[in-house]
Amino acid sequence: MGSWQDIFAVKIADRHLTEPWMLQEDDSLQVHVLKPGWKQFVQRRALGRFQCSQCFHEWSSAKVHVLFHMHRHRGKGKVWMRIFRQVCRQCPDPRLEEPKFSQETMERLLHNLVLKILKYFYGLSIKPSDLLEVVVDAPVAGPHDSARCEGCQLGVCSESRLAPALDADGARTHHTLKRQDRKLYAIPTHHPSPFNSTFRWKSCCCISSSLLCVLAVLLFVLLYFTKE
Ligand SMILES: [Zn+2]
Ligand SMILES: [Zn+2]
Repeated sequence: MGSWQDIFAVKIADRHLTEPWMLQEDDSLQVHVLKPGWKQFVQRRALGRFQCSQCFHEWSSAKVHVLFHMHRHRGKGKVWMRIFRQVCRQCPDPRLEEPKFSQETMERLLHNLVLKILKYFYGLSIKPSDLLEVVVDAPVAGPHDSARCEGCQLGVCSESRLAPALDADGARTHHTLKRQDRKLYAIPTHHPSPFNSTFRWKSCCCISSSLLCVLAVLLFVLLYFTKE
């Protein structure tokens, strides 16, 4: 399996970029903290595997975020990369653990990065559909554990809920569901009262009209007998 740098070099060469580009990891990189002329790309929802260095517990996350800051100056390009870590949920005093990615995930991540480089520094127009999904098959059980995710603690994960289409759709469905819930609850509270009142009104009418009938019959009988 190739390193990030090896795969990145191949991806750059594939695009016939003759200018040198280098890639380095930097764990101090901050989201939106950029020097002038630098560009940012956040790859969200990469599938990574973690192993705790203390208890050796293993887990997968489909929400690993990778932050890239890139810059081109005098015919040379550089990229700083930060992979957000997660902590083990089984250890009382866990350390931040770095994820491992499959070759395919790394390829997709760097494919997207190179497209962003072409867009920002070489004026190439990129359609959103050109970017590859980074989560690759392998199902991940359970919800995302924000308390144990470095990205969440630094505000990277929460941002992702607003940006990509998938999450926006999720939010929309959530809202419609809420509205439907309200409707569902509205039925038992609103409808029974009019139903009940008409029912009560109808039975009232019934009782009073039958009482009137009985009274009329009684009056008729009384009048009939008093005449005789
Ligand atoms: Zn552990
Ligand atoms: Zn997170």
